[in-house]
Amino acid sequence: MKSRGTSSDRGGMSNGDASTQLALVLSPHPDDESLGCGGTIKLITDGGGAVDVLFMTRGENGFAPGRIPTAADRVDLAARRESEARAACERLGVRRVAFLNGVDGSLGATPSLSSSILAALVEGNYRSVFCPWPYDRHGDHQVTYRMLHQALAGLKREIDVWLYEIWTPMEPNYYVAIDGVLEAKMDAFAVHESQAAVLPYTEAFRGLARYRGLSCPPARAAEAFFYCSSTQLLNHEGIPWPRPPFAAPAGVRR
Ligand SMILES: [Zn+2]
Repeated sequence: MKSRGTSSDRGGMSNGDASTQLALVLSPHPDDESLGCGGTIKLITDGGGAVDVLFMTRGENGFAPGRIPTAADRVDLAARRESEARAACERLGVRRVAFLNGVDGSLGATPSLSSSILAALVEGNYRSVFCPWPYDRHGDHQVTYRMLHQALAGLKREIDVWLYEIWTPMEPNYYVAIDGVLEAKMDAFAVHESQAAVLPYTEAFRGLARYRGLSCPPARAAEAFFYCSSTQLLNHEGIPWPRPPFAAPAGVRR
């Protein structure tokens, strides 16, 4: 696996060690796993490592802008997107897929899901966790990060954290070259037919991969990450963005 980091290389995903990787990917909605880190997932699984994906929601509100869905439409879309997610993950070589039943668009209404993330981290004994970075534009992506942060605070050991970008480009410190798996990444996304019909994601994320490739020549395509340890994340050490605002405890005003 070809990669380049601008921060200290802690050995998490340097050349050739994909076989020892054991990772959990937190995906707020079906399709984030493919768009955010599908190439890296494929590199890990092709290399003999294991990746599980935990979906925070089934994406039941992923309709085209302007459409007003009925409750039945949402039920149908949730089932469709679950099946799309399972098929996309199969293409990426994912070992296990699970869904946490958060509400698409209102993930913050179920803060207790952070305990489900913690349980998954403990049970799976993962070496790494992938998650959207905290200032990604979609509210559910921000909430997923906050839930992970809370889960990591309860985890009794250190793991590697890989933050990925979807809606808002971040300041990365690590690039994974995905030239050889770019088509596999796009094929996995294409399985999310319900979403491919809503916005021109394919064109946009090919462009993002090419853009990120500029930062790790001679690669022509890359995925960008902010890579750190869970301890660094919890202590906000070496993090180039402000500590995100967390919800105040009940009864406390800010
Ligand atoms: Zn999403």
